[in-house]
Amino acid sequence: MLKEVVGTPSFCWVSEMSEKRDYYEVLEVAKDASSADLKNAFRSLARKYHPDRSKEDNAEEKFKEIQEAYAVLSDEQKRAQYDRFGHDGPAGSPFGGFGGGGGFNINLEDILGGDFFSNIFGGGGGAGRQSRRRGSDIRMFHTVDLKKIFQGSQEEVVVDLPVACTKCAGTGAKDGNISDCGECNGQGKVRMRQQVGPFVQDVVRDCPTCRGSGHQIDERCEACRGDGKEIKSSTLRFNIPAGAEAGTRLRMRGKGGPAPNGKGEDGDLFIEIEVEVHPWFERSNADLIMSLPLGYSDLVLGTSIKLEHIDGKELVLKIPPYSNSGDTIEIKKRGLPRNRGSGRGDVIVLLKLHMPKKVDKKSKKMLQELKPVLGPADILDRIKDDAIERRN
Ligand SMILES: [Zn+2]
Ligand SMILES: [Zn+2]
Repeated sequence: MLKEVVGTPSFCWVSEMSEKRDYYEVLEVAKDASSADLKNAFRSLARKYHPDRSKEDNAEEKFKEIQEAYAVLSDEQKRAQYDRFGHDGPAGSPFGGFGGGGGFNINLEDILGGDFFSNIFGGGGGAGRQSRRRGSDIRMFHTVDLKKIFQGSQEEVVVDLPVACTKCAGTGAKDGNISDCGECNGQGKVRMRQQVGPFVQDVVRDCPTCRGSGHQIDERCEACRGDGKEIKSSTLRFNIPAGAEAGTRLRMRGKGGPAPNGKGEDGDLFIEIEVEVHPWFERSNADLIMSLPLGYSDLVLGTSIKLEHIDGKELVLKIPPYSNSGDTIEIKKRGLPRNRGSGRGDVIVLLKLHMPKKVDKKSKKMLQELKPVLGPADILDRIKDDAIERRN
């Protein structure tokens, strides 16, 4: 579901996006999983969801998902790329993301054991793409600091993006000459006989010759080696709306991977906003939260502290006398602009008692002298009072 942002016609807020799951999540492994972990995870999931064996709902979908995840994570280079860029990856990859290619180079027989396939026709093969008429979507991350989130910002970045090869107009064929696939007569699908246990059934699959595209390339374009893509440095300009949340995705239509074979729709580019960690603020929607360690004397006597603030003006924290560790003070309307709606959030300051790690002899003596003043006069009364406070 997409929501348009007024005034920025080439972008939308994307609140939800039918999106691929994280590869590590798919394989149910930790981010630092070893290659043996990955293989084990893949083996057990592949056995569970192999579409020709599994009784699970949407087994085929699941199987494709785990296959894709494993194909990427088991390849050191692709894994590093994925860790860095996420799905549909990299601006700069000559393959324009993980979703673009055809089959995956996984030897299933090797991993699952030959017996697993003894009565399955066709094996596990490559995962067919859902749509070959559309280029892959690309996601990139863009990090800004809190100041830019406060003000809103016009960004300009230069990135390498895959575009249709200019030599062959994205067809992948020399001089753009493509013809219908002879195997499937341009349909992209073929009927196959498949044995499932004792049954034989006809299934329709992506044509293996053209991998579902319906096209045949007689001679490959030399410039892109048949890939139909080239990498081009592009300047992207986009607005970060004031108050944008981390994780906000901006969408640039048609800036993703080029349409396969130069036909159909180009994919989209999603720019995901990340926000740099601020040295002291944490964010809660439009509010900014910080903790302020104070000495005992500051809490008793009160104090005033000035900080440089993200709005360019000084932020004055006034701590009233007799403040308690754990008290909060709120500075209204000095937080971030509200994302939807008007006004600003607040700055919320949590007071904390700072305990010195070490006290010298002289100070110790002074503290001893102050004890009758600082300490509760009647310790038993204090204990009872605290107990009452806690119950209320
Ligand atoms: Zn074909
Ligand atoms: Zn080309």
